[in-house]
Amino acid sequence: EVNEAYVGQSGYSREELLHMRISDLEAKESPQEVQAHQGKIKRTGHDRFETEHRRKDGTVWPADVEATYWPGLDLVYVFIMDATERKRAERQAAEHRQELEALQKSQIAAHTAAAFAHELNQPLGAISSYTEAALMMLGGASPDLARLRGTIEKSRDQALRAGNPIRSLLELLNTGSGTAQPLDLNHEIRDALRLARTDLDLDFHTRLTLERGLSRVRANRIHLQKVLLNLFHNAVEAMRDAHVPQPEVIITVRTSRDGNVAQVTIRDHGPGIDPRDAGHLFETFFTTKAKGIGMGLAISRSLIEANGGQLWCDPGQAPGATFHLTLPFEK
Ligand code: ADP
Repeated sequence: EVNEAYVGQSGYSREELLHMRISDLEAKESPQEVQAHQGKIKRTGHDRFETEHRRKDGTVWPADVEATYWPGLDLVYVFIMDATERKRAERQAAEHRQELEALQKSQIAAHTAAAFAHELNQPLGAISSYTEAALMMLGGASPDLARLRGTIEKSRDQALRAGNPIRSLLELLNTGSGTAQPLDLNHEIRDALRLARTDLDLDFHTRLTLERGLSRVRANRIHLQKVLLNLFHNAVEAMRDAHVPQPEVIITVRTSRDGNVAQVTIRDHGPGIDPRDAGHLFETFFTTKAKGIGMGLAISRSLIEANGGQLWCDPGQAPGATFHLTLPFEK
């Protein structure tokens, strides 16, 4: 038997359909596969799958199928739902995701270019002025060699100065590749703490509160490590600059209050955030440090958002600075 909806969808008449086999309509599985599939449904009693059916005019449509075998009647009862709309929505979501990724990449590229320009403009300007001055001295009747040497040395210092922020910027931007994977957040925190001590050479105490049995999150491991290291680095630097005697970073990992995401809180005993700065922390180039670049938090936020999470500063937790980040659980 076949209902009117399938008749309308297939383009065949009811009479035609009643003389056809499933394999005449099936567009994805071969006749042998259809036979094997039917055998399996008879054995297990039930199956749910995606496939494609062919209309009388040859066009193909995606179908969500649910088949149940009734042994008493030796009948297979099949629900077939047109999956065109679902497929279209899925495709649109994937395209949207790709567009967002492309946008994010171009934003990072634009940020990088702007950061390089920002970091290079000042020393390049100085190098050009010092060189100009040295040339003028050389053009004089009897150049003062000591002054000339001093000017050239200043030019060299500027060139060296330009190299440092560029190196740290590259380090920061080198987020590597890798894809999102299921991660044990407790383990990742411990690993990032170890790296902060070995690779960044940071000296600090930690107070860790981890949630036992926390569900796994889904994130790009390299991105997460980058963000955690940056937050630890900022915290330790703030405490060091404020001469805090026993620098300590307090880290809490837990399921968020609404239960939807995992949340990491990172607190320090430093001077905290000036309320006037609070709104600007995540802007590119915002820095209060003499040698800061002001890209760390901006990049960290975009990395966490690219992984479906959020990163923010909690001004209500003074003294000290408090940052929270969230990541979605593995589905
Ligand atoms: P940078 O470290 O190069 O300045 P960031 O984007 O990492 O760039 O940080 C921006 C600014 O945010 C810092 O200059 C500082 O003023 C503030 N900040 C970040 N973390 C802390 C912290 N733990 N304590 C106090 N201030 C902080």
